[in-house]
Amino acid sequence: MLKIYNTLTKQKEEFKPINPGKIGMYTCGPTVYDFIHIGNIRAYTTPDVLRRYLEYQGFEVRHIKNITDVGHLTQDDIDQGDTGEDKIERKALAEKKTPEEIARFYEDAFREVEKEMNILPAQYFPRATAHVPQMIQMIERLIEKGYAYEKNGNVFFDVTKFPEYGKLSGNTLEKLKVGARLEEHPDKRNPWDFALWLKAPKEHLMKWDSPWSVGYPGWHIECSAMSTEYLGDTLDIHTGGEDNIFPHHEAEIAQSECATGQKFSNYWIHTRHLLVDGEKMSKSKGNFYTLADIKKKGFSPMALRLAILSAHYRSQMNFTWNALYQAQANLDSINNFYNRIINYAPSESDKFSNLTVADFVKNFREALDDDLNTPLALSVILELVNHGNKLMDEGLMGNPAEVKKTLETFAKILGLRLEGIVVPQEIIDLAEERKEARTGKDFQKSDELRNKIDEMGYIIEDLKDNNYLIKKK
Ligand code: AMP
Ligand code: ZN
Repeated sequence: MLKIYNTLTKQKEEFKPINPGKIGMYTCGPTVYDFIHIGNIRAYTTPDVLRRYLEYQGFEVRHIKNITDVGHLTQDDIDQGDTGEDKIERKALAEKKTPEEIARFYEDAFREVEKEMNILPAQYFPRATAHVPQMIQMIERLIEKGYAYEKNGNVFFDVTKFPEYGKLSGNTLEKLKVGARLEEHPDKRNPWDFALWLKAPKEHLMKWDSPWSVGYPGWHIECSAMSTEYLGDTLDIHTGGEDNIFPHHEAEIAQSECATGQKFSNYWIHTRHLLVDGEKMSKSKGNFYTLADIKKKGFSPMALRLAILSAHYRSQMNFTWNALYQAQANLDSINNFYNRIINYAPSESDKFSNLTVADFVKNFREALDDDLNTPLALSVILELVNHGNKLMDEGLMGNPAEVKKTLETFAKILGLRLEGIVVPQEIIDLAEERKEARTGKDFQKSDELRNKIDEMGYIIEDLKDNNYLIKKK
């Protein structure tokens, strides 16, 4: 039974879906004005592992991830004191392109990175610009119900009308009065109110007609409108990075719950930040790495994925190249083992011994059941690799097919793409011949056979007791 930490209740809870067998999950996606960095990748890896684990247990997961293609503020900007220039427009002007061209380019780049990182594509990636009518409808409902007000073509949410404001982040009105940083605007009734719709200045490129003004939506409304559109009033799971908790997710709850009268999301799951030298990795600070940077240094996307999984999603992770070296080494040993087990033909002696996979499956599941403890789940995989290698070295592996399948299942749940090769029988025969030569201490013949295998595109690595591992060059 999966227990997951819920930011809303501040405790680990047993996961129970609203509808048996089906799960609706929403993830706040990227603002598409630049390449995503590996901190963003970390935030998208958590829901991916969660989804994969739930699917493994037989749930049908409907996953929605929005594309923010109208460039509102983010927490980064507030932290940097930015007053809210539309980032997509800024980039468009700088590159002499249209905002659409910028958004599509970086959306494609984002999708490509997710693919390389083996992050399952969401069933749908709704774009904010295609859902302005739904946002307008929700804002109209909020005005009708008295939760929002219009002034000079701008519409704001009145947080004093929602007594539960602050229930996710702890930033209740009492606390806010003492001092959180706020978006300033002369038309606001209360300084902590937030924008639902803003009248566009003349030079603004992206603007839409609305009952209040020709303008553009506020920072938070797109997620409320699009999640309701594709998943209904109440979501099972909502995910994001920890910087999304306030004000973004707090505002989503306020808008959605006031508009629908229903609870917005049962579980809130937040990935803590990826840090560089103790500071949050972020676009605005310029201290970030992209997947391209990682690949340039010779690491594979799967090594990055393994490095990310080596830290629990709820602990801050400090990015170091050393951690990537370690991850690449672990990945290589998993892949080598996979290669070996794919091609392992049990001998007579092997048939008397099996590796008990049930213990590993139990430990693996227990690790993920405990708030997606991926570092522990990875250690179970590495234990399986060590144990399995030892049994093969000793000629005591009677069930390679079962072990292979177990490893494949674990890898699928964690989203690790395994790279195994099926070695042609011809090469195996040569390797066996070489083993015999080595056993008979005929090292000249052994070297000749090694060269022959090498010429045919394979490398033979010697293990204990004249055993060997064949790899592709
Ligand atoms: P953004 O494009 O800045 O809105 O970020 C997209 C997602 O990545 C959001 O869920 C953020 O919370 C998350 N995120 C941003 N920076 C980091 C970081 N350094 N570590 C982890 N997640 C992050
Ligand atoms: Zn969102």
